[in-house]
Amino acid sequence: MTEGSSGHICGQHEIEVAPGKSLPEFCEIQHAILESAGRSIIVTDTVGSVIYFNPAAQRMLGYTWSDVVGREAVSIFHLNDEVEQRARILSAELKRKITPGFEVFIARLSRGHTDEHDWTYIRKDGSHFPVTLSVSPLHDSGGELIGYLGIAGDISRHRNLEQDLRIAAMAFDSQAAILVTDANQQIVRVNQAFTTLTGYSAKEAVGQRASLLKSGRQEAGFYAQMWNSLNKTGHWQGEIWNRRKSGGIYPEWLTISEVRDEEGLLTHYVSTFSDITELKLAESEVHNLAFYDPLTALPNRRLLLNRLDQARAAGKRSQQFGALLIIDLDHFKNLNDTLGHDIGDRLLVEVAKRLKICIREGDTAARQGGDEFIVMLENLGLEPEAAGIQAETVAEKIRLSLSQAYVVATNAKHFHSASIGISLFCGHDKTTDVLLKQADIALYKGKDAGRNTIRFFDNAMQTALDARAGLESRLHQALTHKEFRLFVQAQVNTDRELIGAETLIRWQPPGEAMVPPDDFTPLAEETGLIVPIGLWVIDQACSHLRRWADNPEMRKLYLAVNVSARQFRQADFVEQVAAALERHRVNPKLLKLELTESLLLDNVDSVVNKMQALRALGVRFSLDDFGTGYASLSYLKRFPFEQLKVDRSFIRDIATDPDDAAIVRAIIAMGNTLRLSVVAEGVEADEQHVFLVEHGCTSFQGYLFGRPMPFDEFEETLGDCSSEPVEPLDNWVI
Ligand code: C2E
Ligand code: CA
Ligand code: CA
Repeated sequence: MTEGSSGHICGQHEIEVAPGKSLPEFCEIQHAILESAGRSIIVTDTVGSVIYFNPAAQRMLGYTWSDVVGREAVSIFHLNDEVEQRARILSAELKRKITPGFEVFIARLSRGHTDEHDWTYIRKDGSHFPVTLSVSPLHDSGGELIGYLGIAGDISRHRNLEQDLRIAAMAFDSQAAILVTDANQQIVRVNQAFTTLTGYSAKEAVGQRASLLKSGRQEAGFYAQMWNSLNKTGHWQGEIWNRRKSGGIYPEWLTISEVRDEEGLLTHYVSTFSDITELKLAESEVHNLAFYDPLTALPNRRLLLNRLDQARAAGKRSQQFGALLIIDLDHFKNLNDTLGHDIGDRLLVEVAKRLKICIREGDTAARQGGDEFIVMLENLGLEPEAAGIQAETVAEKIRLSLSQAYVVATNAKHFHSASIGISLFCGHDKTTDVLLKQADIALYKGKDAGRNTIRFFDNAMQTALDARAGLESRLHQALTHKEFRLFVQAQVNTDRELIGAETLIRWQPPGEAMVPPDDFTPLAEETGLIVPIGLWVIDQACSHLRRWADNPEMRKLYLAVNVSARQFRQADFVEQVAAALERHRVNPKLLKLELTESLLLDNVDSVVNKMQALRALGVRFSLDDFGTGYASLSYLKRFPFEQLKVDRSFIRDIATDPDDAAIVRAIIAMGNTLRLSVVAEGVEADEQHVFLVEHGCTSFQGYLFGRPMPFDEFEETLGDCSSEPVEPLDNWVI
């Protein structure tokens, strides 16, 4: 008995109570304790039947006093399985059989087990919940067992917490690195993945500040923003560069969350992060594939268009002009065909390098595909004229640079010219499509002008373009509407005697002026219409030769027919010519085909084969516009020409320009060396004729001897000539 307390007897028990307190009072207190206790208190008699059931037990289990009184506690509140299982365990411990049920508790108690154990209780509604239960025997003052006291507490909340902790622990050991700091950013915990990723062991990291991982790559502003968001929303995620223990810097995807206690006070920060180096590599690979040309590593068309959009948006604000340059290598296909694609590729790579050198930083050089490149120049000033001059200066620099020798195969130098089309822009003055198209049109103007040139797109060009579209549709009808006329122009020998003629096409749209061939054949060539037109010309020429053959005065005259490159490239060209000759029963020797040099640059073998096949029939070939192209002497020797036709641009100033005179002399000498006859076209003056005769030219064509005219007119004048008594046709050299 403690000092200051006094002993009282309550029932048979002697009970200590505080001094000044009476026992009956205390019995009441005791009762009140049982009734108001937070835990479930159940008292049974010695065989386990309920004799007391406190309000907490009623609340916890959902039974009322009358539901349970006198019933066996074990069978109402406990799970059968659990009781049986514990009976088995106890049987094994005590080495004797324990009957499940009330016996289980007795057995435990008999061994002095009064400490708490986890059990499952069943509520009246059948639901289960975990409790911690202690059962103690109750004895009377004589030591006689009078019953059992069971005190149980609901541990569901505790169990849930435990489960959460288990899950958290598992998550903590996940693949992602986890770092937990206190509110002052001092590291309190890290996981294994953290160590693997950063190289810092838990021991090294704990106690350090989180800034241990800072890479220094990001500016103070970045971190300020991060903390700002974290403070505002309690959360931040994003990409960040951190540093490993080894010093290596890597990108990571980081999520930081605040942890607050029940009062809302910040206690911790939890950061999870993973290394995204691989992801970034894959991302940049995709980016490269999508936006760069794999061969030259230049931006591709898509990226160029992106940048063009940006440039135009910027130009709209600044009002500065920009320029788009489309660059196309002249005759690139030829190099590809003759030397192979490897060499072609190497050349393109070299072109890309040169382009990059020619432009300023901030300008873009892109490969549009094939041998076509696009350069975008920005910030060319506020004045269109000045911008044009600047763009032209860059274009000229590019043109010169690209025309330098390329060493793409050992010991061999290649030269390649380029044509450049330029279109200026200012903000959104035109759509991207229109802008590209205009540069393209300018490029083709350049190509038409003989390649190796620079051309601008301007409004006059647009007008020409519109006219061209109209021309194209009318040209389509011209053939079916029989609007073409074939003219003929005389060719004579040194004595001005007629030896043959060249056919020259004209277009006569009804009610309009006659259209010269230079105004429609290039378009016909582009659209492919030149093929049926050319066939018509050959057929017409053969039909005239047929008529001439029946005329003794004309049967030795040959006809020279102009053949376009596209027409000659037709797979069945040889057969078509042979068929026309046969159809009109014409001597093939009287048909001469005029080819131009540009035709010889493509696919040499095929050209030679076709020429030889026609030569075998007797058809002859003349090389038209000679001197204006690039063909070398050795190159020409590969083709079975019979004649060179000196371009009329050399003949025009032959008497006054010593350079032209020298060129013509050289061409004639060259013709002689190659055993080719030489015909001069565009002879307008006597002195030109004299000069040409003096230097060994044998055939002549030009206004001096007759203009191009319709066949009937031509035949009439011939009739006039033949009426003269001079011995006419028999002496004509063919
Ligand atoms: P080309 O083959 O060089 O034809 C000669 C051109 O010179 C002709 O122009 C002719 O009218 C012109 N000419 C003839 N003598 C003189 C002269 O003394 N002085 C001057 N200044 N010019 C003279 P045209 O008829 O306008 O033909 C131009 C071009 O059209 C021809 O050039 C030829 O390349 C092409 N062409 C003409 N007919 C045909 C054809 O049937 N088929 C094809 N594919 N092209 C043709
Ligand atoms: Ca010609
Ligand atoms: Ca010519």
